[in-house]
Amino acid sequence: MATLARDTRGRTRPEPECPVRTPFQRDRDRIIHSKAFRRLKDKTQVFIAPEADHFRTRLTHTLEVCQIARTIARGIGLNEDLTEAIALGHDLGHTPFGHAGEEVLNRVHPGGFSHNEQSLRVVDVLEAGGLNLTWEVRDGILNHPWRGSPATEEGRCVQLADRIAYVNHDIDDAVRGGILKGDELPKDAVEVLGDTHGKRINTLVIAAIEQSLEMGRVMLRGEILEALDRLRSFLFERVYVDSAAKKEEEKAKGVVESLYRYYVLHPGEVPLSYDVDPGPEVRACDYVAGMTDRFAIAQYNKLFVPRTWKLDQ
Ligand code: MG
Repeated sequence: MATLARDTRGRTRPEPECPVRTPFQRDRDRIIHSKAFRRLKDKTQVFIAPEADHFRTRLTHTLEVCQIARTIARGIGLNEDLTEAIALGHDLGHTPFGHAGEEVLNRVHPGGFSHNEQSLRVVDVLEAGGLNLTWEVRDGILNHPWRGSPATEEGRCVQLADRIAYVNHDIDDAVRGGILKGDELPKDAVEVLGDTHGKRINTLVIAAIEQSLEMGRVMLRGEILEALDRLRSFLFERVYVDSAAKKEEEKAKGVVESLYRYYVLHPGEVPLSYDVDPGPEVRACDYVAGMTDRFAIAQYNKLFVPRTWKLDQ
């Protein structure tokens, strides 16, 4: 099942090989050293710009996906370096304020917007003139959403790990945020997967390894998959839609829309590093999509909120 580094379809611009690292290891390193990767630390997972220390951000989500994906990959003998590179890069294109920001850009931007296509755009074009990653890593990043069909088993592994990670850590954060009580989780799912965060991830990872080995491709099925889906539906009912965690979302959407429209009208204020497309809409979209929650709020305050007069100004 494994994708071997020596069989890679290669890079868009050919490069001399590294004497030490495989192409997939180099891709992982390029992603970790990118600015877009560092910005994940301040992008929403579920809770917008959380001030408390222990809520997930897009960065810690990414690390949890990576850890789960690597364990599954090692268990079934996939290429761990390729898995790691795809996992670390999969969410680089997320907007500030998570899916709320994504929804707005998709509505207002003429070309539409989706975070996975933007993740690919970040590594192909926006980050330091393009990271020139291998075909397999780019494919895994682009096709990581559940509806996607990655070409490699490593891509499928990240797709599954993403779902295992977010369903479980979003429950954990919702309990931490007082939106759920631990004993409110659907009983049937808890019986199958376990009564703690750690037990549930363990059950899912072990089942993924066993079932994938049995079927000859990465998958999760049967009652384990049903239990995971049950938890996910429960999150939609109780956390992702209309909960206290979402109460700032309308404001967040207003911030993203206002910034986008402002930079379309003022292309000269978009940093030169985003000057990779002649259209002001695309540049505004790339710039706003790349912002962290905190930077977007600061820019909004600077552009749209009048400052009070102080004598020392
Ligand atoms: Mg993700």
